[in-house]
Amino acid sequence: MSARIIDGKAVAERLRAGLAARVTALPFRPGLRVVRVGDDPASGVYVRNKDKAAAAAGFDSATIQLPAVTTEAELLALVGRLNDDPAVDGILVQLPLPRQIRQDAVIAAIDPAKDVDGFHAVNAGLLATQQPGLVPCTPKGCLHLLREAGASLAGARAVVLGRSQIVGRPMAQLLLAADCTVTIVHSRTRDLPAECRRAEILIAAVGRPEMVRGDWVADGAIVIDVGINRLPDGRLVGDVAFAEAAARAEAITPVPGGVGPMTIACLLENTLEAALRRRGVAG
Ligand code: NDP
Repeated sequence: MSARIIDGKAVAERLRAGLAARVTALPFRPGLRVVRVGDDPASGVYVRNKDKAAAAAGFDSATIQLPAVTTEAELLALVGRLNDDPAVDGILVQLPLPRQIRQDAVIAAIDPAKDVDGFHAVNAGLLATQQPGLVPCTPKGCLHLLREAGASLAGARAVVLGRSQIVGRPMAQLLLAADCTVTIVHSRTRDLPAECRRAEILIAAVGRPEMVRGDWVADGAIVIDVGINRLPDGRLVGDVAFAEAAARAEAITPVPGGVGPMTIACLLENTLEAALRRRGVAG
């Protein structure tokens, strides 16, 4: 058996085109500000791609670049100004931050209504209690892909590999809200391969190149690979050994071209949702 490839690039393009059409019909342009401190090269690519996608979809988007020596107080002051700026609907502070700045303090300072990354404790709490809030972009993108792949979620056994605040945990919450039977596995789990093999839906978000081998994948499973790992030879691979897994799965996302493009599309979706909600219009 050879798996269907879930084309995240195409799904993301359709999502962005739909958002662009909605933005054109609005009497205002949703405002997004991305704050970048220092020049981490990995986040540089992300920030440039985001700028292009946001402009193409008609958003009022700008990146605010600060020097690597910026202090926490300076960054918090900027976040405060963006919170107060009525033209700004979404604020994204690009992580990781330099060591002198506490990440948690910065996330906590963002107005939850403008927290388009969905990392603020208020948004995490809203997600956990099934109330409308802003949902982290990457897991939101994974759920879009599962729906596009035609996965029947209600009652499905879903295994999420990884329990980070930005991917694994919110992913598990979204799957639970979609009526999956959810297991979260992590570095302290006994017998990871056996747990993964039980999955009808397997989401890998560990940050370990090709850790999920073919024999961890059940025949007919749907596999979503969140991992983005750069190998010493320059190749980009996921957390799943693609060819081995594709031989058993029913459908699988590639890396690159799977989850990655969805993250930016969902960031724009969150910015539009935040803009509508702030103006009292249902998203
Ligand atoms: P984190 O490092 O924050 O979390 C990794 C998780 O995997 C942790 O819960 C950790 O367990 C678990 N883990 C690590 N090693 C093992 C192991 N050997 N066995 C079992 N579990 C393990 O990573 P993120 O969640 O931020 O990111 C995961 C991956 O997704 C990365 O490759 C990242 O680059 C990618 N990513 C991709 C995005 C996209 O847009 N496509 C966006 C965000 C991330 P424990 O908690 O026990 O330590």
